[in-house]
Amino acid sequence: MYRFRVGAVECAVLNDGDLFLPPEALFPPSRRSEWPPIQVDAQGHIAIAINCLLVWSDGKTVLVDTGNGTHVEKKFEGGGQLIGQFARVGVTAEEIDIVVLTHTHADHAGGMTVFHDGRFVPAFPRARYVIPKADWDYYTAMDRPRELFVERSLLPVAEHGQLQLVEGQDFTVASGVQLLPAPGHSPGNSVVLVESEGETALHTGDLFHHRVFFEHQDMVRDQEVLPEMVPVSRRKMIDLVLERSALLIAAHEPHPGLGRLVRDGDRVSFHPGR
Ligand SMILES: [Zn+2]
Repeated sequence: MYRFRVGAVECAVLNDGDLFLPPEALFPPSRRSEWPPIQVDAQGHIAIAINCLLVWSDGKTVLVDTGNGTHVEKKFEGGGQLIGQFARVGVTAEEIDIVVLTHTHADHAGGMTVFHDGRFVPAFPRARYVIPKADWDYYTAMDRPRELFVERSLLPVAEHGQLQLVEGQDFTVASGVQLLPAPGHSPGNSVVLVESEGETALHTGDLFHHRVFFEHQDMVRDQEVLPEMVPVSRRKMIDLVLERSALLIAAHEPHPGLGRLVRDGDRVSFHPGR
């Protein structure tokens, strides 16, 4: 848990734990010479943190992303520690007013639900779940094989009437908290902007899976849903971050994932810290 303020808005980065995945799931094999140095475990996996963000703004408690969840079968192992972190900030799941997702992939959406009495139910019983509609439509479409997280994380929230789908434009989630489209990684992929009293912070979601992508903006994995959009979205957000001297909360950098961008000529680099 790491607390900080953006202007008058109180924030905390909660660590859902590490996610273990093959490096090819993060970096394109075709550009191996540009990969950063990596360390793999006995299974050949690398570990990356999952950083979720709590924002207290204007009487609302907002959770940005829900981590990998506690479900037994996961796409990639790890994470699932988010709810355990809540006590450390003195918050209960019942107190979350709004859950906002940067996108609907398993390591961000997995904690939307919990398994209770033989079925998956919303983990945040009072919350409105704000979700990019383009992701919902793409991943719940009946004409493609459904991934596990659709049945377990997405659909139960709709069944409980807690779903709010957002079309692809800037959307105010709560006072000073906005969901901004950054498509490419998924059709509805987005980032979350927090603004107060002239200060700005940005939760990157998976627009930048790793700090190397701030520098290599055109290094894109084949499996991205709209690969040609990824560099466009990255450049747009880099410009916004530099223009506003925004603090970054990088979803998969070591907890708490805070950092700043520096542009030196054509080169953009990520510097950890506040
Ligand atoms: Zn992710």
